[in-house]
Amino acid sequence: MEFKRIIDENRETYMAELFEVLRQESISAEGRGIPECAELMAGKLKSAGIEDVEIIETEYNPVVCGEYHVSDDAKTMLIYGHYDVQPPDPLEEWVSPPFEPTIRDGRVYARGAGDNKGQIMAQILAVKTYIEAEGSLPINVKFVIEGEEETGSPNLPAFVEQHKEKLETDLVYTSDGPMLADGHPVVLLGVRGLLYVELTARGSQFDNHSGNKGNIARNPAWELMNLLSTMKDDNGRVLIEGFYDNVLPPTEKELELIDRLPFDLDDVSRNIGDDSIEFTKADYYRALCFEPTFNIAGFTSGYGGEGAKTIIPAEAKVKMDMRLVMDQDPDEIFERLRNHVEKHAPDVEVEKLGIMQPSRTSSELEFIEPIRRSAEKSFGREAFIQPSLGGSLPDAVWTKILGVPSVVVPYANIDEANHSPNENLVVEHFYKGIETTCRVISEIGELDQGYSI
Ligand SMILES: [Zn+2]
Repeated sequence: MEFKRIIDENRETYMAELFEVLRQESISAEGRGIPECAELMAGKLKSAGIEDVEIIETEYNPVVCGEYHVSDDAKTMLIYGHYDVQPPDPLEEWVSPPFEPTIRDGRVYARGAGDNKGQIMAQILAVKTYIEAEGSLPINVKFVIEGEEETGSPNLPAFVEQHKEKLETDLVYTSDGPMLADGHPVVLLGVRGLLYVELTARGSQFDNHSGNKGNIARNPAWELMNLLSTMKDDNGRVLIEGFYDNVLPPTEKELELIDRLPFDLDDVSRNIGDDSIEFTKADYYRALCFEPTFNIAGFTSGYGGEGAKTIIPAEAKVKMDMRLVMDQDPDEIFERLRNHVEKHAPDVEVEKLGIMQPSRTSSELEFIEPIRRSAEKSFGREAFIQPSLGGSLPDAVWTKILGVPSVVVPYANIDEANHSPNENLVVEHFYKGIETTCRVISEIGELDQGYSI
């Protein structure tokens, strides 16, 4: 493989390019270093041989776009990533400073090393490598690198909607998140969506003495708990009318894929920090990929400090998140939740704090197996296909707004510590990531000869 030789010859220069990007702060939550990083990414696309590069402004942070056009007849793959990072706090827990990339024990340590600069740079450098090896690409490649992923991609849906024509593609390819627990590569075919709400119950105008006002003042904590107990039964089934109406059952093929995935209950227990959980492999992946959650993320009311304080709280709040599966619509579920509250506790306020649509790509598509094979060959480990990620990503902008298939193939190690101090990327994963993307480009180019995506 010619491109393997080029990756080997350029190990140092490629790492230096990654270091340059990692040194540039780009904290979207604090608005730090954003335009500078967008410029830098645009420069990296150009130096990879992509001529058509544009920085497109949005309401907040600009999107960096690039296009390498071969021919109108060739297939097109759009690569998505983000150049923004999470704040590095708490700084004192970093062994080396977050924006001074450092290699220790075969890992690059820096904020953004895994999430997502290391992974998106692997994609950009793959294009560079391929062009150097073959003189051109066998397919059209487009890049969308946004600067707001770490704040929930608020402008991405509108951006994709506005630039539908420019972004036209046959498939979307993303490298983000970690690989499977024991270092196996995985091709993810979707994500769960999200509905985040806050419910507030109010009693008196202020906290009251629990003796002098006991049995007289209303207690909103009980009111909220009673309401919550009407929402879920003892088996964990959500009792909100219509909650499960649009849940799609897994297909035969998806169940087969689950059956092939690795599973070790001890590993799962260790990762969760609870050795009392019991799951079969089938139930574990079903619960993670195909079933919605109904989670209490936080409950706040009254006195939570040291010792005793005898009050009747004036207010109780609960934050809840629901991970939604295909074909649940977060806005519709919100309305159903609101109706439920209206019926059982009309005084409780319901506020929507955030939504994300679920997304799924059919496991039957031709290009999925070649992508799996590409990751397997590059990483030298058996690669798997997982029908959905348990978590959420703005993947629906591709599958629902653009209406194209989308896959996520993580290159980062499971312990990348993204969002935490000492974020890192295993050095070899960076190079293997470059190799994987090269192979994917080559394989999609092959498909182009006879198959359709
Ligand atoms: Zn992140």
